[in-house]
Amino acid sequence: IDKIKVGIIGYGNLGKGAVEGIKATEDMELVGVFSRRDPKNLVVEDESIKKFHVDEAKDFVGKIDVMLLCGGSATDLPEQTPEFARLFNTVDSYDTHAKIPEFYQAANEAAKASEHIAIISVGWDPGLFSINRVIGEAILSKSETYTFWGKGLSQGHSDAVRRVNGVKDGVQYTIPSDEAIEKVRSGSNPELSTSDKHNRVCYIVPEDSADKNKIENEIKTMPNYFVDYNTEVHFITEEELKRDHSKAPHGGFVITGGETGENNKQIYEFSLNLDSNPEFTSSVMVAYARAAYRLNKEGQSGAKTLFDIAPSYISPKTNEELRRDYL
Ligand code: NAP
Repeated sequence: IDKIKVGIIGYGNLGKGAVEGIKATEDMELVGVFSRRDPKNLVVEDESIKKFHVDEAKDFVGKIDVMLLCGGSATDLPEQTPEFARLFNTVDSYDTHAKIPEFYQAANEAAKASEHIAIISVGWDPGLFSINRVIGEAILSKSETYTFWGKGLSQGHSDAVRRVNGVKDGVQYTIPSDEAIEKVRSGSNPELSTSDKHNRVCYIVPEDSADKNKIENEIKTMPNYFVDYNTEVHFITEEELKRDHSKAPHGGFVITGGETGENNKQIYEFSLNLDSNPEFTSSVMVAYARAAYRLNKEGQSGAKTLFDIAPSYISPKTNEELRRDYL
């Protein structure tokens, strides 16, 4: 059978993860990676991967079924999604929650005009978490939904601790508060702010002559980033930082607590525990590439979100197999 031909635009963390994700499938083949950087200088893991400049992508119309758009949400995707949805079926991981409505509209116009499918905001949040927020509340109409993030490495907060005087290097993890999770799981539907739900833990490599107490105090009282949170600061060596803190873990919980009938508590919970945030996110994108391909084959077009797509569209199994083995 013909494999689904997939291209990757943008070769950062997600782009690299997408290469691995495609390799792990049996029904897809990677046509190549497209970058804004000079392909000659792009270091790829595996020499068999074809590299192209992104301006060459238009020459692949008809030769690529789905483009995975692996650019950043801040400035790349608002341009790249409408641009490439004019040429290909696309999947992206746009995660600026507040701007999703306008992003959807631009993607929808481009994809409708060219009769392609553009699946937007694919990943885990937005993505699998979003689906579970919707399912939980659709089923439990009298309910409250809570999202906890972590344990996760936060880029913004890690940058902030590295700017503190006397800090040579460091990382910050956001960790869900056990106490808050237990309250939610008990079904008491508590009122919780973001800072009630999460703790912050920092691992810091100090400069040789640095005053550790001063560093700790400066971090814990930093406005916006730390002051409202329960924050721990640990001092470690450069070797320990490299050995124990060079992965990009993430994950979290979506919990809907509700009631049915006369005071029967019902808890709906979904969780993820990820060693590598980008590799998982790009694996979700690869699965949805299947859906983009199939929906378009059916003659559908326009922008879609995960809410619109049935699970059978992302599975490599047939509907018969799914009914027989998974229902
Ligand atoms: P990234 O590594 O910074 O890559 C973004 C883009 O930057 C790449 O497409 C690449 O474009 C360029 N780039 C990468 N490395 C570079 C380098 N060494 N020098 C110059 N340019 C470089 O970002 P990412 O970690 O892949 O994440 C991409 C987006 O995914 C994030 O913005 C985030 O919004 C989203 N995300 C979503 C979810 C979700 O659950 N929905 C989860 C995680 C991440 P070129 O190849 O064209 O230069």
